[in-house]
Amino acid sequence: MSILYRSDAPRAAAWARYFAEHAPDLDFRVWPEAGKLEEIEYLIAWQPPREFLAALPRLKVLFSSGAGVDHVDFSAVPAHIPIARMVEPGIINGMVEYVSLAVLALHRDFFDYVAAKASRSWNALEVPPAASRTIGVMGMGVLGRAVLERLSAYGFRLRGWNRSLRPVQGVESFAGAEQLQPFLAGCDVLVCLLPLTPATQGILNRELFGMLPANAALINVGRGPHLVDADLIEALDSGRLSRAILDVTDPEPLSPEHPFWTHPRVFLTPHVASMTQPDSAAPILLENLRRHQRGEPLLNVIDRSRGY
Ligand code: NAP
Repeated sequence: MSILYRSDAPRAAAWARYFAEHAPDLDFRVWPEAGKLEEIEYLIAWQPPREFLAALPRLKVLFSSGAGVDHVDFSAVPAHIPIARMVEPGIINGMVEYVSLAVLALHRDFFDYVAAKASRSWNALEVPPAASRTIGVMGMGVLGRAVLERLSAYGFRLRGWNRSLRPVQGVESFAGAEQLQPFLAGCDVLVCLLPLTPATQGILNRELFGMLPANAALINVGRGPHLVDADLIEALDSGRLSRAILDVTDPEPLSPEHPFWTHPRVFLTPHVASMTQPDSAAPILLENLRRHQRGEPLLNVIDRSRGY
């Protein structure tokens, strides 16, 4: 039984160690030392190339090494092969930390104080209570719900938007295109945690920014192509939006000439909000693989028709 890891190279050794210790019956290989590709039955991958997938005739399951699956060309994976995404505590905790940090930095005016220090300005701003701010999360999935739960501890008012209405305790819930406007109308900080699909590409655009209250801030931790860059610059420059914190861009890395680098009210991080952690992810993936071997339903299989 052969399994190939073709993902983030620095963390490959940790994956290999875990499988060697806990699944010695599995022939765990790390790309590019893949051996005979026709022997591979399970693949853990990020952005697997089309021609590479075509060279795996015995593939049984494709495991995405990340939470999203937008890096997978579904048409290159035969329809009978399930695609499972990564749901594991390391990714969830990382995202909860990053979004909490971003929301609190906005709430407590940290970016203003960074600028104030540069000009030696001692200027105390008002400290409004958390309960006076509403944080809205687009995409109340595994990550969005975890983020909302942590933010509730600070006392923020919370709302969330999904495709289908799935109420979450303590969160004002909205769903579908018809409830997007009422959802946005109350968000002081908007967090994008949507998967990238044809329906969500370009969703963070001028029209959407126009539905937010004046001075709202944006945190994009979904994917770069959710955002229409020029529309964000315009919204910031016109004062419609106050700030943007972007962990994802299109393309990645962002080109050196891109205006986001120098925009005073854009804060950038290089797609580090959260990462798959081998220590917590490998046991979960191995258990999922064992389920498949035992003929039990796989967990976290994506629905190709929805794209997530
Ligand atoms: P998930 O559990 O699949 O949740 C996705 C949520 O988005 C669901 O609640 C879904 O609503 C909603 N949604 C999807 N399409 C929609 C649409 N057209 N309109 C409204 N709502 C829609 O995914 P997750 O694990 O939370 O991850 C979300 C995304 O985070 C990933 O796809 C990835 O792009 C991003 N991510 C980023 C990083 C980073 O480091 N920046 C790390 C990990 C993940 P329904 O339930 O109603 O269908």
